[in-house]
Amino acid sequence: MRHGWAWWLGCLVAACTMAGAVRAQTWAIERATVVASPEAAPLADAVVVVRDGRIVSVGRAGEVRVPADARRIDADGRVLVAGFWNSHVHFLLPGLTEVADAPAATLELEVRSLLTRWGFTSVFDLGGLPGNARRLRARIEAGDVRGPRILTVDAPFYPADGTPHYVRDVMKQHGAPSAEVATPDAARARARTQLEEGADGAKLFIGALVGGPQGVVHMAPDVARAVVDTAHATHRPVFAHPSTTQGIEIALQAGVDVLAHSTPIDGPWPDGMAQRLVAADMALVPSLKLFEVELRKESVPPAVIERFLAVGQAQLRAFREAGGPVLFGTDVGYIHDSDPHREYALMAGAGMDWRAILASLTTEPARRFGHGARSGRIVPGMDADLVLLGRDPADDVLALSDVVWVMRGGQVQYEAPEPGASAQR
Ligand SMILES: [Zn+2]
Repeated sequence: MRHGWAWWLGCLVAACTMAGAVRAQTWAIERATVVASPEAAPLADAVVVVRDGRIVSVGRAGEVRVPADARRIDADGRVLVAGFWNSHVHFLLPGLTEVADAPAATLELEVRSLLTRWGFTSVFDLGGLPGNARRLRARIEAGDVRGPRILTVDAPFYPADGTPHYVRDVMKQHGAPSAEVATPDAARARARTQLEEGADGAKLFIGALVGGPQGVVHMAPDVARAVVDTAHATHRPVFAHPSTTQGIEIALQAGVDVLAHSTPIDGPWPDGMAQRLVAADMALVPSLKLFEVELRKESVPPAVIERFLAVGQAQLRAFREAGGPVLFGTDVGYIHDSDPHREYALMAGAGMDWRAILASLTTEPARRFGHGARSGRIVPGMDADLVLLGRDPADDVLALSDVVWVMRGGQVQYEAPEPGASAQR
């Protein structure tokens, strides 16, 4: 049967109305133990009312009016926290690289297993195929695909002759143009274009791992500075992949805002490094599990991996002791394993308690990326980004990965199967 344009238009309108209706729904999450922010005392037997995608009230049962038409969720005493940020993700895995034509259901499944199923309702994509993350974001925001809030740096900036060895295949496969920039002018011009097209920041491979005898290629400081100045002119952050201590020095010189990794590859930081980073108002994404995943791929002996991780943990510890803000990030979507529990364990091993890790997942990134007024806490007026945990993280930080229910902007993103169901994850 053939359909005329009116039929298709009707379907489009219906789809949009459905997406709007889902977000306009009223919800009441009842019998929750609300931890409204990393600093807040838990509020037992609490109710959170959500309407039109926003939190409208939070309080004890009996003190909060639940509208008659609200859909009710029974939290059964479990801990409710604000939606998480993952400040280092990619959309480079098969299934997420051709988002323009992919069926919505396929994309939704991929995005859920990678991100939302672990509570990530906001993510910062730190580099991919040109325009890809923006296209995915457009489909999510149009209500076509359920998924997280996406911020993106769009295509990254590599130094001249510095395309990392591990991205060459995926770039070739998709016919992506070179992302290398040799001069400040070229860097400035591309940064301007990407920011105008909707990038939320920029990512510099200041220390690019090119493999072979050369190892690491560093970006010229004036090239890095050109991108930073262009991004800062529109108040957008710049991330750096430093790799080495020299890479951190260039990032400091250029005025970078966030280190996308710690740098255990280059041994312990020199004395005073953490203090200099904090004085420069830099934030750190430790991404410790990434190093473990990469070294295991190379069949590095476990004892060596352990020593390597201990160096990364020492850097994280020094950075925190100097008062630096930590942003949670795993490089998921470059690495396949999406379960964040190992990162939580490694952060805890570096001295972060569950409240500090929760801050790295919520208030710190929200503030750093200019979303502090709408994201990061369970407070009336904020976006209804909520994560229900199966266990209490005060008893065990790994409970942060025991996610049973996730809402973003008033839309349910994930619901764990009932206990005893065959597929738990
Ligand atoms: Zn990455």
